[in-house]
Amino acid sequence: MTVFEHPPMIPYARQDINEDDIAAVEQVLRGDWLTQGPTIPKFEETVARRVGARHACAVNSGTSALHLACLAAGLSPGQRLWTTPITFVASANCARYCGAEVDFVDIDPRTHNICPDALEEKLKRAELENTLPKVVIAVDFAGQPADWGRLRLLANQYRFVLIDDASHALGATYRGDSLGSGRFADFTVFSFHPVKIITTGEGGMILTNDFLKARRLALLRSHGITRDTADMEGFAEGDWYYQQLELGFNYRMTDIQAALGLSQMQRLDSFIARRRELAANYDKFLRDLPVTRPWLSPDVLSAWHLYVIRIDTHEARLSRREVFDSFRAAGIQVNVHYIPVYLHPYYRRLGFTAGYCPEAERYYRECISLPMYANLSQTDQKRVVQVLTDTLD
Ligand SMILES: *Cc1c(COP(=O)(O)O)cnc(C)c1O
Repeated sequence: MTVFEHPPMIPYARQDINEDDIAAVEQVLRGDWLTQGPTIPKFEETVARRVGARHACAVNSGTSALHLACLAAGLSPGQRLWTTPITFVASANCARYCGAEVDFVDIDPRTHNICPDALEEKLKRAELENTLPKVVIAVDFAGQPADWGRLRLLANQYRFVLIDDASHALGATYRGDSLGSGRFADFTVFSFHPVKIITTGEGGMILTNDFLKARRLALLRSHGITRDTADMEGFAEGDWYYQQLELGFNYRMTDIQAALGLSQMQRLDSFIARRRELAANYDKFLRDLPVTRPWLSPDVLSAWHLYVIRIDTHEARLSRREVFDSFRAAGIQVNVHYIPVYLHPYYRRLGFTAGYCPEAERYYRECISLPMYANLSQTDQKRVVQVLTDTLD
């Protein structure tokens, strides 16, 4: 067998699993409940307490969490959901699952989050045309909270339900308030995919302070079935009895996943501290290169899911493609977050065309996500910086 000598690959993101995580999962595997057991509510309570929310509903993915949040928000066929184009497709697809129409609002070129001014303009026009959205989903891109103060005021004025897709931003704060507290958004959604801040393999959670909405989320997570006699029509026929009240799904998280999540939650602060340290290093090392480094609003503490730079393609005299390829050739798996959602063939078929959100498209031409994860070593980070420096020199 030939052994090739090459430096190990550096991914753009990865999980951090330690012996405690493994022991926590093993304990569940040796116990009575692999799913629908006591670890799920423990994990829900831990996340809810941490972010200051009253209710939490753990599910099998962030995508399922978005779908259920939209249903609980009352989003129904023919209604509208607006979101940002610079996000993962799931932030828009959740509307389509509900039979609703999707529209996009351009980004703020500094934060890359949904632009409150563009949103306000679009809302004014929609009010005149009687086409206001039922739901707006803002995404805390790269871990930086969106402009929640402005978004809440607009939600109150134009009466839409505000959903926070905080898949990137568990542990982030806006004006000192944890995302998920319900101070600004009606529902907050987290994802626990391995690239995110903490992981359960696959998994997600919805946070809300509305008791009745929380009940609805729990019902929809498991087929629309209840075993609670208080919720039933008529009377329970015995201890075996349950009722399906509406058409729900099997979006349940397992206890195996919840045990991993619970164990990961104990390191949330250290994960974010390490990410912040890596971001500060990048800021320092990239200062003199023809790139725009992330800009943070003074209102926020970011969870630093991503460290995204924009290549100054004129000064660098290189395209984003060339810089990207040079990283990949050096074994560094940089990535691009994101292709504007409406440029995907599925959304083009719904009528969207290039040019719809100019700031998002300009951003897309220039962006690269550098490796960022809690266990990225100093040596590997230096290698990333060296490759970029050599490429742009
Ligand atoms: C990861 C992600 C999702 C989807 O989460 P899954 O757990 O992978 O289903 C949704 N929105 C954003 C912004 C994400 O980054």
